Amino acid sequence: MTELGATTEPGRDAGLAKKLFIKTFGCQMNVYDSARMADVLAPLGYAPAAGPEAADMIILNTCHIRDKAAEKVFSELGRLKPMKLARARAGGDLIIAVAGCVAQAEGAEIQRRAPHVDIVMGPQTYHRLPELVARATRAAGGAGGRGILDTEFPAEPKFDGLPEAAAPQGISAFLTVQEGCDKFCTFCVVPYTRGAEYSRPPADLVAEAGRLVAQGAREITLLGQNVNAYRAAGPDGRSWGLGRLIRALADLPGLARLRYTTSHPADMDDDLVAAHAEVPLLMPFLHLPVQSGADRVLAAMNRRHRAADYRRVVDRLRRARPDIALSSDFIVGFPGEDEADFAATLALIEAVGYAQAYSFKYSIRPGTPAATLPDQVPAAVKAARLERLQALLRDQQAAFNRAAVGRTLPVLLERAGRHDGQLAGRSPYAQAVDVAAPEGLLGSVVPVAILAARPNSLAGRLAAADRQVPA
Ligand code: SF4
Repeated sequence: MTELGATTEPGRDAGLAKKLFIKTFGCQMNVYDSARMADVLAPLGYAPAAGPEAADMIILNTCHIRDKAAEKVFSELGRLKPMKLARARAGGDLIIAVAGCVAQAEGAEIQRRAPHVDIVMGPQTYHRLPELVARATRAAGGAGGRGILDTEFPAEPKFDGLPEAAAPQGISAFLTVQEGCDKFCTFCVVPYTRGAEYSRPPADLVAEAGRLVAQGAREITLLGQNVNAYRAAGPDGRSWGLGRLIRALADLPGLARLRYTTSHPADMDDDLVAAHAEVPLLMPFLHLPVQSGADRVLAAMNRRHRAADYRRVVDRLRRARPDIALSSDFIVGFPGEDEADFAATLALIEAVGYAQAYSFKYSIRPGTPAATLPDQVPAAVKAARLERLQALLRDQQAAFNRAAVGRTLPVLLERAGRHDGQLAGRSPYAQAVDVAAPEGLLGSVVPVAILAARPNSLAGRLAAADRQVPA
């Protein structure tokens, strides 16, 4: 969860200067969306607020992926209610908006249970924020909400209505290239909350990436719910997949690194795999969720691949880029999962070997097909399986990090480190690295001799430049 004041300069009309506070839950796509909402509101005079107390407008940008996501939003809204009431008593106004996937999935429920909310808007309607805010401003303020709901999937693409990103994102930036998902995994709300797959035009993305680099970005992570399903008409009149887009972006002067997330194994086409071999800027790290190692469970999840298909994708990737490090998502205790299925998942983990991974107990998402499946796995069984699975993944991650000790890795220095005189960055394999280095090296890719491995990070010292391996 991240908190962000609107990161843009105050509006041009100083008389309209107002403060905006956005609290972001969930994934990097939501972080990107929050920054774009701040961009949309900047021309209306909204500038960053240091905290919710100082804000004229608060947006909760919500995520529906994790367990009890909606309840977390309702408790957050409960905390904001007295703030809105106090503001009204003092003759002021506070606009409260809920955006993101919980807003899309539970819009009516939010209006029923939290009537002090002014605006509820789905992820596809951020470009309409000025109009929604204008409607809220025209309506009477006070302690009650204005009851504005916009959870449509508009015909016009959201990105066409968004202004150019104004706020620099820093050294490591995100760029949403694709949204939505047509896969309909039975446990997932994304196809319902984000809608059908949509890919942004390559020319727009090259231009936006160029602006990010001009603002100081050295690394860009391409985002999409199903990012490798990316497909759009290129300026050459051909259909571009993600591999082609990556090659175009890799030509941007000043850009040092590219990454992308999140991928579906079934969309790992030959050109994208080849890009891992041929594009030096594309980092040798890939988050490639598999969820389960059991074909029976994968079928029940509607994942559209078997365990062996996933293993073949991994083999192709490793042939293209032998040092590629992998990450994955795992769901433990999906309805109907038995001991043999779980053992198959452990076997797949052993066979593939992961540098890091995310793992969760299955939990019901209302409105998804899996929510009504029989054979829900008892909570205690899920907990025990998750513990075993996480122990194995922890061992693999620790071994992967230990294997870096004694090597010299190129590290992109992104921010101040935990201690004075330290900077923090990432290895090509997405490992966090702490190193003593002068601030002037921020934004540089430097060779770092790795001296120690911790469970979740590495520590090293600056090495001689001639020992650098390519970024
Ligand atoms: S591919 Fe990913 S985003 Fe799409 S339905 Fe499956 S889990 Fe959800």
